[in-house]
Amino acid sequence: MKPLAETPAEERLKQLKTVYSRQREAAERFNAYITLRSLEEVEEDAESSEGPLKGVLLPIKDNISTRGVKTTCASRMLAGYSPPYDASVVKLLKKAGATVVGKTNMDEFAMGSTGENSAFGPTRNPWDVDRVPGGSSSGSAVAVAYHGYVSLGSDTGGSIRLPACYCGVLGLKPTYGLVSRFGLIPYAESLEQIGPFSRFSKDLAMLMKLLIEYDEMDMTMTPSTSLRNSIASRLEAIIKSTGKPAVVNGVKIAYSSKLISLADSRVQRVIENFISYLRDEMHAEVSDVDLPMLDKSLSAYYIIAMVEASSNLARYDATYYITRETYTSYWQDTIRLRSEKFGDEVKRRIIMGSFASSAGYMGRYYLKALKVRRFIKNLVSEVLSRFDFLLMPVSPSPPPKLGEAVGVDAYALDIYTVVPNLTGHPALAIPIGFSSGLPVGVQFISDYYKDAELVYLAYLLEDRVYDPRKAPG
Ligand code: GLN
Repeated sequence: MKPLAETPAEERLKQLKTVYSRQREAAERFNAYITLRSLEEVEEDAESSEGPLKGVLLPIKDNISTRGVKTTCASRMLAGYSPPYDASVVKLLKKAGATVVGKTNMDEFAMGSTGENSAFGPTRNPWDVDRVPGGSSSGSAVAVAYHGYVSLGSDTGGSIRLPACYCGVLGLKPTYGLVSRFGLIPYAESLEQIGPFSRFSKDLAMLMKLLIEYDEMDMTMTPSTSLRNSIASRLEAIIKSTGKPAVVNGVKIAYSSKLISLADSRVQRVIENFISYLRDEMHAEVSDVDLPMLDKSLSAYYIIAMVEASSNLARYDATYYITRETYTSYWQDTIRLRSEKFGDEVKRRIIMGSFASSAGYMGRYYLKALKVRRFIKNLVSEVLSRFDFLLMPVSPSPPPKLGEAVGVDAYALDIYTVVPNLTGHPALAIPIGFSSGLPVGVQFISDYYKDAELVYLAYLLEDRVYDPRKAPG
């Protein structure tokens, strides 16, 4: 197995059947897919496509619109929906020759941390089927971990990085506004980004290079082409790299021992060893810094995310989502529709989000959460003005068993991941080891538009702290 970035198209086409059959296994054994296209469809597409991703099978999270292929958000509400258009990211990758292999399982409307809140059943962790793979982009992480190469997910509060960590692969949340979200079914837009999973750092670079095109359909994108060009050339340099330096003298990395001490002792141990490795073997300058209030980010995140969710999900009403034949009255039908078609977690968030932004309580909850967000943004920006990277755990624990982390226990898994969503910084989850046979990862956060520097860091650590070829049996 080698990076797709180093595999010629003919070779990818030759491997296609094998790669596809692994994905079918991932669908059957771990429930990684909501929709898997047939081998015939996939082969036909792959043979007729042209471009740098010819012969690449691409699993896509089921909240990213794909023309003519069902896009359900793992919800009964959208169970029969086939979008009439492609999301911009899908359009870009198809134009580059990629073949959509299927739509991956996820938490309903991307609300969850374990992959269990799906109307189509939970996704399972390929390293241990009794454990969760992490969510909400559960299927996209499993697809790569289980002998795949690359996939797409979305990350509102950790939904790429948490499953990447639990499944032992790379997962990147890009800088806010760097990758178009046109065609992503929204959950909480001030926080979320579409991003790639991969096992090889070069493949991450290759996908990112294609994904950062400016899109006037996404109003959050920064239209600076020169900025984009400089990122593209740095990504290209990673793809072309042959050797790598033995040490990284002068690279400054910050971490907070206080924050790490909030994690489970097994996770702590692996991360502490990794920090020693960075310091002693890689010669990085690693410093312990104080990050007061970062532990408040979880509360701020959940209030903001729920408020935005309650507003976004208001669109699912009897105007568009019932058929004319069953129509009785707007309110009656809307109540019935939403009671029947939304899962419990989605309902909980709509109720809490409406409450936290209601006239009488807005100041106490929503506006306060925005102030905490501002404070955290300043804090992280200040650290990143002095350091190249901020290192944090991804998850406070190894992957929980199915049914073990529900309600607020599931929210608590996000304590580290929500930080860069609140601040907009890019963050990359990198596998750094195993504890009792289960993957452990860390995330690196860097300054805005330093996404390529994060990918380069993964490149440096590849084959040294993690083996990109390692896969569950
Ligand atoms: N677990 C978080 C939530 O449920 C993050 C989900 C996500 O990033 N989409 O909101």
